[in-house]
Amino acid sequence: MSPVVARSRAELAAARAEMKGVVGVVMTMGALHSGHASLLRAARERADHVVLTVFVNPLQFGPNEDFDRYPRTFEGDVEIATAAGVDVIFAPTPEEMYPSGEPAVRVDPGPVGEILEGASRPGFFHGVLTVVLKLLHLTRADVAYFGEKDYQQLTLIRTMVRDLDLDVEICGVPTVREPDGLALSSRNRYLSSSDRESALALSRALRAGAGVAAAGGPDATLAAARTELEQIPGAELDYLVLTDPDLRPPPERGPARLLVAAKVGTTRLIDNAPVEIH
Ligand code: AMP
Repeated sequence: MSPVVARSRAELAAARAEMKGVVGVVMTMGALHSGHASLLRAARERADHVVLTVFVNPLQFGPNEDFDRYPRTFEGDVEIATAAGVDVIFAPTPEEMYPSGEPAVRVDPGPVGEILEGASRPGFFHGVLTVVLKLLHLTRADVAYFGEKDYQQLTLIRTMVRDLDLDVEICGVPTVREPDGLALSSRNRYLSSSDRESALALSRALRAGAGVAAAGGPDATLAAARTELEQIPGAELDYLVLTDPDLRPPPERGPARLLVAAKVGTTRLIDNAPVEIH
């Protein structure tokens, strides 16, 4: 069955009023791919009703970023949502989400919002957390699914839920990749074929790091990953870091996270992977 498409808060509220039991939400900016579909499947397995939100949030784009050219493929999104068994798609305009203009009050992500993505994209996580909080209120979801692909975002959302006592469960979903390792991203469609080749350096670096972590310590892990990235002329590294699972300094042994961001051609890509340091 095709999902109900709600464009306004009133339409969403009417659809929400019909829902009984567990409501799951998957929040996206549209241009859906198999990574989003994996989140929708996880929601479908658990929840009685699944709400998909499709909203390119102007608040989280910097002035020189790709808000205007961000891919908008609503018809294809509806097809993927239908196949995944979504009940309601909430696809508001910016005016519907921000009827009083840009909000004066925003969620402050704290220090973890200033590092990594936050350092390269000032205000990004204020915009992300503000829209996530609004969408949690509007959908009144019981459980919300986010991809590990955006690991810092997932970490900050979990922290927001804990620190602000939000009554929702957050579920992280592993990154879906192309067979050659490239993490699926709506922005991959910006890549030329040679960019796409260079972009493989990110996942290759993560694999190399994870392989070495099993035998070496943090320094050897980072060195192995960096070597992969240095070999690619088309990739301009932004950061490569090893942290603990909560984005704090890495342990000498035990579970850790390796995160990378690089510009490939004109496209900024991010990726990360769990590593176990021995
Ligand atoms: P986006 O539309 O890119 O903002 O992403 C919406 C949600 O899908 C976020 O929770 C992302 O982390 C998640 N997501 C994006 N790409 C992937 C992927 N390759 N695998 C799993 N989840 C993803």
